Amino acid sequence: MKLPYAEPFRIKTVEMIRQSTPEERKEWIKKAKYNLFNLKSDYVYIDLLTDSGTNAMSDKQWAEIMVGDESYAGARSYYKLKQSVEEILGFQRFIPTHQGRAAENVLFSAMLKAGDIVPGNSHFDTTKGHIEFRKAKAVDCTIDEAFDTTKEHPFKGNIDMEKLETVLKANKRDDIPLVILTVTCNSAGGQPVSMSNIKETAHMCRKYNIPLFFDAARFAENAYFIKIREKGYEKKSIKEIVKEMFSYVDGFTMSAKKDGITNIGGLVGFRNEELMKKVSVFSILFEGYLTYGGLAGRDLGALAQGLRESTEYDYLESRVGQVAFLGERCKEYGIPVQEPFGGHAVFVDAKRFFPHIPQSEYVAQLLAVELYIEGGIRGVEIGTLLADRDPETGKDRYPKLELLRLAIPRRVYTNNHMDYTAAALRNVYERREHLKKGLKIVQEAPILRHFTVELERL
Ligand SMILES: *Cc1c(COP(=O)(O)O)cnc(C)c1O
Repeated sequence: MKLPYAEPFRIKTVEMIRQSTPEERKEWIKKAKYNLFNLKSDYVYIDLLTDSGTNAMSDKQWAEIMVGDESYAGARSYYKLKQSVEEILGFQRFIPTHQGRAAENVLFSAMLKAGDIVPGNSHFDTTKGHIEFRKAKAVDCTIDEAFDTTKEHPFKGNIDMEKLETVLKANKRDDIPLVILTVTCNSAGGQPVSMSNIKETAHMCRKYNIPLFFDAARFAENAYFIKIREKGYEKKSIKEIVKEMFSYVDGFTMSAKKDGITNIGGLVGFRNEELMKKVSVFSILFEGYLTYGGLAGRDLGALAQGLRESTEYDYLESRVGQVAFLGERCKEYGIPVQEPFGGHAVFVDAKRFFPHIPQSEYVAQLLAVELYIEGGIRGVEIGTLLADRDPETGKDRYPKLELLRLAIPRRVYTNNHMDYTAAALRNVYERREHLKKGLKIVQEAPILRHFTVELERL
């Protein structure tokens, strides 16, 4: 019999976490205005809010923290990172930034103007925020299958070529500064993009003479899905697949807090020297000098090593396997989850979980609140709160998917934590009919409101 996967690491150091009671949590979440971002992390038992910057670094990464140097210009760690970026991503030109949205900020400062159109596959919230902040528009061209959580499709992050071409045809070349392909597609549920879709998108962009960029936060998980799901890639190594993926794009932004397996960091990469020069100005203005970009030298070394580790097959198998483990447990309990499971998170379909409560009462947020009270588990709403209001009409935008995301930090929790999480969800599912009403907003910011919104029970 084939042996199951097991983690390709030993646990060398641990951090103690504390359990609390449902009574305590009811009080804490009420004080937090039913916004889980307002909770102290000490009030959380299992923190599945995000897989961003919450990863456990390896002994080798910690070693880089010690041996890295903190020179303002030309630090040793920068050159280690440069070597790693060239070797793994195949890019010679890049600038480090303090995180992913900073990469978006400096890149879009150089590329976008008001009125521009930026097509892509379900842009991530900060990406969309940075586009809309510049009075430009993000147009979602994801395939329709992505919006039905019950549909099986191996690459739900794919771009719909017809939708994309319609947008490219309908607008002037000068008004489309770039196309962004997010791998894996976070907003569509951590769903991968196939190599053939990357290739076709690149081909289409070339036809219209528009640069193609990756939002590459989870490039390694995407490569893993290509290896196990796409014909012709079974025998290729993850590193070969990653190299091929990046060979089709003109540049990328990356939050290194995900597949970089670090706690902080970002990158923006380019092929075009002129563009790099333009971006450099904004980088120096907003981030720091070009060889540290808002980070400490030691962070660059940890990232250089992290890129190597995250592109190892054994690591990815246990990583993506743990996500599927949680997903399978949920399914056994009859909980409606998005399928196939994504690379970094399990997404619970809140509209199917609470069919008797309208979407206008923020059902995914309600589910997040109830799961916290039940088990001290913190997930995050990916739904109407996250979608913000329409900047033109000022009305709530109702996304097709109303999800609770349970994002799993890399190399941090055991499968026992996953069992516990599924059991807590089951308990909420069993008492779902006793919940008759959702939530309402009492206070919100004009953009990216989900971080600071204040809510009340109806
Ligand atoms: C996290 C993320 C970002 C933003 O990166 P930060 O490091 O959080 O600033 C952008 N795009 C995607 C797809 C992400 O997952």
